[in-house]
Amino acid sequence: MSEFVMSIGGESVSAKETFGVVNPATGEVFERAPECARDQLDAAFESARRAFATWRSDEGDRRKALLGIADVLMASAGELAPIITAEQGKPLTDANMEIFGAAIWCQYFANLETAPEVIQDDDSALVQVVRRPLGVIAAITPWNFPLLLAFWKIAPALLAGNTVVIKPSPFTPLSTLKVVELLQAALPAGVVNAVSGGDLLGAQMTSHPVPRKISFTGSVETGKKVALAAAPDLKRVTLELGGNDPAIVLDDADPVVVGKAIFSGAFSNNGQICSAIKRVYVPDSLYDEVVEVLADCAAAVKVGDGTDSESQLGPINNLPQFERVKELVADALNNGATAVTGGGAMDRPGYFFEPTILSGLSDGTRIVDEEQFGPALPVVKYHSLDDAIVRSNATNFGLSGSVWGTDVVRASAVASQLECGTAWINTHLGLAPSQPFGGCKWSGLGVENGKWGLSEFTEVQAFYQSRTADGTNPLMALLVE
Ligand code: NAD
Repeated sequence: MSEFVMSIGGESVSAKETFGVVNPATGEVFERAPECARDQLDAAFESARRAFATWRSDEGDRRKALLGIADVLMASAGELAPIITAEQGKPLTDANMEIFGAAIWCQYFANLETAPEVIQDDDSALVQVVRRPLGVIAAITPWNFPLLLAFWKIAPALLAGNTVVIKPSPFTPLSTLKVVELLQAALPAGVVNAVSGGDLLGAQMTSHPVPRKISFTGSVETGKKVALAAAPDLKRVTLELGGNDPAIVLDDADPVVVGKAIFSGAFSNNGQICSAIKRVYVPDSLYDEVVEVLADCAAAVKVGDGTDSESQLGPINNLPQFERVKELVADALNNGATAVTGGGAMDRPGYFFEPTILSGLSDGTRIVDEEQFGPALPVVKYHSLDDAIVRSNATNFGLSGSVWGTDVVRASAVASQLECGTAWINTHLGLAPSQPFGGCKWSGLGVENGKWGLSEFTEVQAFYQSRTADGTNPLMALLVE
């Protein structure tokens, strides 16, 4: 029996089966989560479907509810942050920031303007474009930011008038279960339901007849399965998938300033950010200096248990991901790369990996070409800037990228050539609730955040009120003459 419960139709619900949740700082199971049964999933979707009929009707109530959710999040930070740290691994400070970030997202959407757009207002007609909710949303999230990414979906979905069934990653189910349980006091029954389980539960959600949209964040591989599962029922999908973000350093950059900033853009959340810097291109003239600054940062950063207030980075979240980072780093070292600092797992329990800077490697090495999603960064030398731009774009990924240099006009001109959803100049990971976030190519379909993200939880309706005496449309009359 777990103290963590699912929320279905406003009720706290346990399950016959449970699964273990591992603390990545120890590698041991520390808690259990309910394994949602098929009939419980059906009940969650049915309760969301019933709640939709009322929830869609009053936008003012929905805005108030979103502000109430933000209050619950902030008031519960003391309870939620240790849960995030225990199941995800990140330091408590970062867990708190994640919770306050989720609250800020709710407040932003609570206040986002949604007025209909008037496209014609004359003697013949008043024509408006209105946005209607889709119905029930199936939300599926990954393990790197379990709460923040949940509210990137829940907040806009609710404002638009939809109801939600959310399934967190089986590696980090507890914080989502707890927060949705706490939200039940602030929301009508069935508006937000949380279920927990493995990948099979995700697949059952995407093929379920009730949801009209799947909002998914996770890997490219799973994203493609979600798109396939959605197709027979033409469910709408938003897919936020993986990335292999390049950072291009220009030859007029200050290596110390840029090296430190790139370290932060690559190693925040222990490198487990879809849009973290995953490979760095540096010109010959600055290569050694930038590598040295990055290596100094990596050697100085304090890695440890997230409950230790000294820790700046925690462990990698889960065993498969830990094994993957180990494999990619070992492959690079076997293929001629040098670990200027780090290079392997730390000699302690849990999934701790040394912050690693790799030099002397190029495209064609797995860790440059694939998404490592962990604390290891390849630094690649370039001779020609045009070539660096071509190599940056020579990938199926297209989430984000950054360009670093003193001449901002030149850096912007280079950034404009990056094929990605977000192009940063002299920074990386600059995100805001008002800013659309999404990927090109295999990094995703659609965007989250801002008015663009909100619109993905709606469908457009042309709302046409005739003002002619006989209901004729002058333009159509002209065309059929
Ligand atoms: P994942 O694809 O393995 O799992 C994500 C979620 O999908 C989990 O809840 C999982 O249980 C569920 N799932 C698995 N198989 C499914 C199926 N067949 N149908 C439906 N759901 C299924 O990803 P992950 O390992 O949890 O997360 C890491 C990946 O997420 C990385 O590639 C990272 O880049 C990406 N990510 C992207 C963004 C973004 O906004 N673009 C943000 C964070 C993470």
